[in-house]
Amino acid sequence: MSQSLSSELLHQIAAIVGADNMGLDESSRALSTADIFVWPHAKVADAVVRPTTTKQVAQLVGVLAKHAVPMVPRGAGLSYTAGVVPSVPVVVIDCLHLNQIQIFAEDMYAVVGAGTTWQNLATALKPHGLRAAQISPISGSHSTVGGAASQNLPGGLDHFIGMTVVLADGTVVNTGSAAKQGASPFARYSGPDLTGLFLGDCGAFGIKTELVVRLTVEREAAFASFKFDRHEDMMAALICLRQRELVTRALSMDQLKANAATKVDVEEAMGVAKAVLSESSSVGGALKDLAQLAMGRREIRRASWSLHLTVESVTQTMAEAQMALARAVCKDKGQEMDNMVPKTMRAKPYSIRGLVGPDGERWVPVHAILPLSSAQACMRELLATLESSEPQLKDAGIFYSWIISTIGAYITIEPMFYWNDQLDPLHMKHLSDRNQARFSKFEVNHKARNLVQQVREQMRRVMSAHDAVHGQMGRFYPYLPQLTPGTKDFVQRIKQAMDPHGTMNPGVLGLGPFHV
Ligand SMILES: Cc1cc2nc3c(=O)[nH]c(=O)nc-3n(C[C@H](O)[C@H](O)[C@H](O)COP(=O)(O)OP(=O)(O)OC[C@H]3O[C@@H](n4cnc5c(N)ncnc54)[C@H](O)[C@@H]3O)c2cc1C
Repeated sequence: MSQSLSSELLHQIAAIVGADNMGLDESSRALSTADIFVWPHAKVADAVVRPTTTKQVAQLVGVLAKHAVPMVPRGAGLSYTAGVVPSVPVVVIDCLHLNQIQIFAEDMYAVVGAGTTWQNLATALKPHGLRAAQISPISGSHSTVGGAASQNLPGGLDHFIGMTVVLADGTVVNTGSAAKQGASPFARYSGPDLTGLFLGDCGAFGIKTELVVRLTVEREAAFASFKFDRHEDMMAALICLRQRELVTRALSMDQLKANAATKVDVEEAMGVAKAVLSESSSVGGALKDLAQLAMGRREIRRASWSLHLTVESVTQTMAEAQMALARAVCKDKGQEMDNMVPKTMRAKPYSIRGLVGPDGERWVPVHAILPLSSAQACMRELLATLESSEPQLKDAGIFYSWIISTIGAYITIEPMFYWNDQLDPLHMKHLSDRNQARFSKFEVNHKARNLVQQVREQMRRVMSAHDAVHGQMGRFYPYLPQLTPGTKDFVQRIKQAMDPHGTMNPGVLGLGPFHV
């Protein structure tokens, strides 16, 4: 057990959350300040605490503030930018037990605990024919609504319409229309947009305990996929699709990513097949879909670049009509292929399997969210940078692949690195028994780890030179140093006002006295 917290403080915490909701053993404390990358500065937490209500969070934070103990809010810890990895000892506020879901179908919103997973929210909404309007991450089988709201997503956070936040001194704040005493949280805009202040703050400004999520109806969808020989042609099609607003979602992957994505375990493949079949309307349709899954896998593995489109609309005919326009754009330089990928992604949007490579390699991405006009040049420079490091990467056994996507008026470019290396308890926690056994034997690979770190930083610099912004900034992407002078001063003043002792997630976004 950690020696840093007095027994008096531990008793006070136990009186608030109950001793069963405190983790004081070494492995729980180490796990609570880990994400899925490696961070030499990481400090093991003094304690991890699991509150179940906003009231408990407010009391806890009040007590920690009185003792000037730094704290870190945590969702599932499935990020890779050290947002949950402090460089000083802290108490971790694990939000996973804040997981209630209230659905207000008539007014099209849901109020959910910050620790609710996206999958659980989707399951609760399905009987109502509704879903979250907010785009959610692929890790949503396990990652939380509060984690996404706190660190931004490439598709934006526009559909969070309110929240409840506990500030660093225990003050409880409501945003959106619920800021007005006795009002319901049905609308985001009423006076200054306080919700926006906390979105993407990586927990620097407070602990979100509840989020209000706008709901939307399930829509009909049309799907199409294309293969391209050259990344420039794929990117040109992607940009044109976005500029003409022809698709709801578009995602491209290179051949290596396609191989990795289709080389899944038996268990995962069964899950995908089951999800696709559950969307089929007849036995004949189901058999056709199964055959398509197998054929689609073969076809995508042969494409240098594949581009996968989804159009959603009110009726199937309208979705198909819009897809016909998108098809005309892609057929200029691309060839249509099987549409198994977008179909599968809609049927099974969440999966945790990608947290390691197909053969248990460690995995880490880095990404740029770019203006449409900068995407081609940034991609060229990223490719050239990686090509210049190719001999060292090969020598260290590191390989990389790409996902390029668009939701909203920008392009997200995401190179991802894979290498053989020892996996951490956080990886193991999310692997099947079979894969835990298969992937538990790797030795620590310092050489590859260090090189990935260097190359990832190089990529980040190239991205920055092309005007990139980022989701999940954490302690990896520079935030504060890149602000204009007035903005920098303003953000520091906000932090100072909300967290004068710098105890709320110290160092995240470069804010607070413990900048890493
Ligand atoms: C297989 C896989 C697929 C992924 N796919 C995607 C993807 O499609 N898109 C994408 O953007 N990312 C993706 N990610 C990255 C990551 O999982 C997501 O960004 C996810 O939203 C993180 O949520 P979390 O609950 O794990 O948050 P955490 O990692 O626990 O926390 C993230 C940040 O939010 C803060 N935070 C968490 N909860 C709160 C709270 N209640 N109040 C205040 N601050 C809080 C933390 O302090 C930290 O700074 C993926 C990761 C994996 C492993």
